[in-house]
Amino acid sequence: MESGEDPLGQQRPHSARMYDFYLGGRTNYPSDRRAAAKALTAYPNAMIASRLNRAFMHRATRYAAETAGIRQFLDIGTGIPTQPNLHQVAQMYRPDARVVYVDNDPIVLNFARALLTGTAQGRTDYIEADVREPETILERARRTLDFSEPVAVSLVALLHFVVDAEESYGIVRSLLGPLAPGSLLALSHITGEHDAGEHDDGAEGEGVVEEGMAAVARVYEKAGMPLRLASRDEVGRFFEGLEPVEPFLVPSCDWRPDLALDTDLPTLPGMISPAETGVW
Ligand code: SAH
Repeated sequence: MESGEDPLGQQRPHSARMYDFYLGGRTNYPSDRRAAAKALTAYPNAMIASRLNRAFMHRATRYAAETAGIRQFLDIGTGIPTQPNLHQVAQMYRPDARVVYVDNDPIVLNFARALLTGTAQGRTDYIEADVREPETILERARRTLDFSEPVAVSLVALLHFVVDAEESYGIVRSLLGPLAPGSLLALSHITGEHDAGEHDDGAEGEGVVEEGMAAVARVYEKAGMPLRLASRDEVGRFFEGLEPVEPFLVPSCDWRPDLALDTDLPTLPGMISPAETGVW
């Protein structure tokens, strides 16, 4: 299809709108819902995993603003706005927080423009760019962020879309290179691995999760959005040379649950065990 006939790409499924569907949002179209239904058939926990992933982003942002006292945020792969958004969490703890949002989807851009209202003291900005162009992102982020002060970078549920592993490690190195000491990296990534030993409730075995996630990857690939599942060690490589913030490299739901916000989306208790998420 010519892009002129479908300028916003509504006829084809898109990762941001499928994720919005998993979260229970309304910014998705029949093409997105059809592909999401296929992914959910392969891996019904995709809905709960998305919610847990979103809640991880909230806690990581809270940690950066409240515990580490960071007031500058660079959020790449922002997604369709879903309350609370990153700037709202950051500005809850640091009203002067500056947030730069980056995504490559025009629909995300349209909605993000509408939410570009933060506190009077803080600031939010939006960059339409591809994470594969880290230099462009850094150059444009400098208009809002002061790189002589720490920046909290979030790459949450994004890098699995960069299927070339070496490229994805290079992107992270380029993004962090010019940042001041004390900067933070928050990252989550789809995995086929599952720590059944730690959370075994007898419901599902490791192989089941791995198979389900591989089927999800096939659905995305067929829809033109290939994804890469990473092992725990492969996710660890993104943090090479950085000082870990404990607990390090855990399923997203296990990272600092004490920092949970009471505004987090409900996780549909009783339906699915949070331990069965497949997201680090
Ligand atoms: N970080 C958010 C949203 C994750 S959904 C959260 O965790 O809640 C993934 C987002 O990444 C989507 O909005 C999609 O549009 C965006 N994305 C996918 N590939 C991208 C790329 N190459 N560059 C920038 N953004 C991308």
